[in-house]
Amino acid sequence: MNTNTLPLLLIALWSMAAPAQQSSFTVGTANAALGQKATGFLEVPAGTDAATSIPVVVVRGNKPGPVLALVSGAHGTEYASVIALEKVIPELDPAQISGTVIILPLVNIQSFLQKTPHVNPVDGKSMNRFYPGKADGTQTERASFLITKEVVERSDYLIDYHGGDLDENLRPYSYWPKTGNEKQDTITQQMVLAFGLNHIIVVTDRPKDPNASRYLDNTASTRGKPAIAVEAGYSGTVQPQDVSALVNGTLNVMRYLKMLPGAAPMVKHPVWIGKVDTITSEQTGIFYPLVKRGSYVEQGMKVGYVTDYFGKTIFEAQAPAAGVVLYICGVPSMKKSDTVANIGEVVKNP
Ligand SMILES: [Zn+2]
Repeated sequence: MNTNTLPLLLIALWSMAAPAQQSSFTVGTANAALGQKATGFLEVPAGTDAATSIPVVVVRGNKPGPVLALVSGAHGTEYASVIALEKVIPELDPAQISGTVIILPLVNIQSFLQKTPHVNPVDGKSMNRFYPGKADGTQTERASFLITKEVVERSDYLIDYHGGDLDENLRPYSYWPKTGNEKQDTITQQMVLAFGLNHIIVVTDRPKDPNASRYLDNTASTRGKPAIAVEAGYSGTVQPQDVSALVNGTLNVMRYLKMLPGAAPMVKHPVWIGKVDTITSEQTGIFYPLVKRGSYVEQGMKVGYVTDYFGKTIFEAQAPAAGVVLYICGVPSMKKSDTVANIGEVVKNP
């Protein structure tokens, strides 16, 4: 190679790697021109069951940068996470942003409207368990298919927002998916530290097959896109501190990704959770909690009990290991095999 041509070649390569922000960006019916914010819908067509329209916002920054997807309300009654993205929408000024943000603030509209926890009432399926979805499946599968194509595959990074559902008394935490891909894992670790929730679950057991990814964040991860999930809010409440933790966390991840100016303060002393123990009820009846979300318990400690309808104790729930109460059932209704609590076992080095 003639060394004289090297600088020109480098300039040519650089301009290919970092093109100017191109004109408009369209997701569903939301078409945002450069420097604009647009709203629209992902139209999920009717199939074996009804059609649905999922609201989408595209914020097209003036400056070039990555595409970040923010998705909330797969569980439509995890309200704090939905309200947090509603608050993020007006916070994002396209003039300040480098890159593009795709926001789906409420994926599971029928869950939200009908106040149905955990599932999409149209087909009874969780909207965070059927990724990457199917074009000819039920509504949840068709919606998941469209989100995979229109949102995940067109993003560089993704954050999935959850929280305690109507029956879950939950303390805030995030998930760090450790995939084994060192480069990706370094980025996602920085993303959870930038997000700012100081309890972080290390997840190592997610499916590796992109065609069987199940979860939204894992659908992005298995396609080589760094993705995290975060949880705040509990029991149907919209507490200002939960909403602001999710809003500020979002803006700080954008700072870490250089999509917003400024530096993100990183969590200095994270509590890494290496294992989550789920305690399930061995009986059907009335549940009484004995510990609060976020409290620390010793192995064998009683975290709650179940009585029959006459007040006689028929089951005592004990912590299988020492750890932090990530969430505990927040209502008296208890069926056999339902979750009583999730206990997070703390590890020193994740
Ligand atoms: Zn959820």
